[in-house]
Amino acid sequence: MSTGRISHWIGGKPWDRDSARSGDVHDPATGRVTARVDLADAATVDEAVAAAREAFPRWRDASLAQRTTVLFAFRELLNARKDELAAIVTAEHGKVLSDAAGEVQRALESVEFACGIPHLLKGGFSENASTGVDVYSLRQPLGVVGVVSPFNFPAMVPLWFVPNAIACGNAVVLKPSEKDPSAANLIAALFAEAGLPDGVLNVVHGDKPAVDRLLEHPDVKAISFVGSTPVARHVYETGTRHGKRVQALGGAKNHMVVLPDADLDLAADAAVSAGFGSAGERCMAISVVVAVDPVGDELVAKVAERIRALRVGDGRRPGCDMGPLVTAAHRDRVLSYVDAGLAEGAALAVDGRSHPVDGEADGFWLGPTLFDHVRPDMSIYRDEIFGPVLSVLRVTSYDEALDVVNANPYGNGTAVFTNDGGAARRFQHEVEVGMVGVNVPIPVPVAYYSFGGWKDSLFGDSHAYGPDGVHFFTRTKVVTGRWLDPSHGGVNLGFPRNT
Ligand code: NAD
Repeated sequence: MSTGRISHWIGGKPWDRDSARSGDVHDPATGRVTARVDLADAATVDEAVAAAREAFPRWRDASLAQRTTVLFAFRELLNARKDELAAIVTAEHGKVLSDAAGEVQRALESVEFACGIPHLLKGGFSENASTGVDVYSLRQPLGVVGVVSPFNFPAMVPLWFVPNAIACGNAVVLKPSEKDPSAANLIAALFAEAGLPDGVLNVVHGDKPAVDRLLEHPDVKAISFVGSTPVARHVYETGTRHGKRVQALGGAKNHMVVLPDADLDLAADAAVSAGFGSAGERCMAISVVVAVDPVGDELVAKVAERIRALRVGDGRRPGCDMGPLVTAAHRDRVLSYVDAGLAEGAALAVDGRSHPVDGEADGFWLGPTLFDHVRPDMSIYRDEIFGPVLSVLRVTSYDEALDVVNANPYGNGTAVFTNDGGAARRFQHEVEVGMVGVNVPIPVPVAYYSFGGWKDSLFGDSHAYGPDGVHFFTRTKVVTGRWLDPSHGGVNLGFPRNT
């Protein structure tokens, strides 16, 4: 079978020169290589940055009306082609089609938010702050900004950043994951069709060398990164050392606390949906259930029963709930945690290794796995596994549950399941996590709030998308102005005081 080539998008068109390096792109449900993706070297990144730099001044000066015309047109094109984009996500990532469609829907919400940019960029105005003097604030774009995204949301995460960055008047170089690169190219082509001028959005494919060049390039003013915590830390430290504004979102270990008064059917449905959706490859996946006595036995039984009913298979086949993992290497890494959990003494309540699969034998499969009686010192608890492995920790009280969550170095998302409003309110106040669900297992904020974790789940001050995104992609300027009037009082060397 012949394989296609996926290349960069620079200056408004596909890049067509020879690339020194390239990588395999797989269909995870069959295990076959479906394309080769070019991996950019520093010179190719420089080309993309130069194209963005050249496009920036005219785009910065484009009126808000011109910018929103492009964004509204892009929203319509994306909506019209959303099934195609979802199919691309499934073909390269492996998540089932309905899940991919959900990802694209959430991406659309971010685009719709950016369509409201005229309102979001409004500054303040104080008339007569001093006699005859007005003070007002402006938000202006930064210049060329870089976006580096992970494999697990190849459409949504780029669109967390690109619409806001562009709406604010910046030019963008997007470096998507090399594991599932095609979604980014369709997004760039749709923006071009929507009327975005050449060079305002560029896509370079690649791996560490491409990211490191973006981090060091003097013309790149800011970096939005999403990925694993060790790389997020590297991106934050290197980018800020080179004088850039950086927001670097990292990994997660998300706990779902189930209190004794919770509805256990609701909690079990939620734990299975949030633990195994997208095969656990979500930064907001629930990977730990904290069962507060006495709910443990009943909850584990309900979760296990639901897991056994899940249909694992090729995401394009109707009725499949969970697809394969993204690569063979990642599947093997997740499998190694099943061995580790057994070796460390956790109780294997459901063994995903023997789960039936509705797909080709060479796909990167691992069925949903449940460990009970997990302890905080075990590697299956400490590490982000990023696969279909759910751990249950048993504790004796609310306070013990809270201590477990707060002692964890990650702080991306968490949820509490209870029918006690007072307990839920206490939890949302006391828990040291950036996004909290109350009887909602995956509390990803809507597009008009902002997304971000605490502790090792985010480096930098700014959360992603929503109002924080607009702030991240702009810098403020405050103007103090006076138009000459007859009362101006001549030379005065004293520090300006307001009168
Ligand atoms: P990753 O860290 O391996 O890669 C992320 C990006 O960084 C990719 O574009 C990749 O090419 C690049 N990269 C990889 N290694 C690099 C290096 N050494 N130096 C510079 N760049 C490098 O992450 P992934 O496996 O693609 O994605 C999964 C991870 O992303 C998980 O840890 C998950 O929790 C996290 N994630 C976090 C969020 C969030 O919002 N906090 C959202 C989605 C995913």
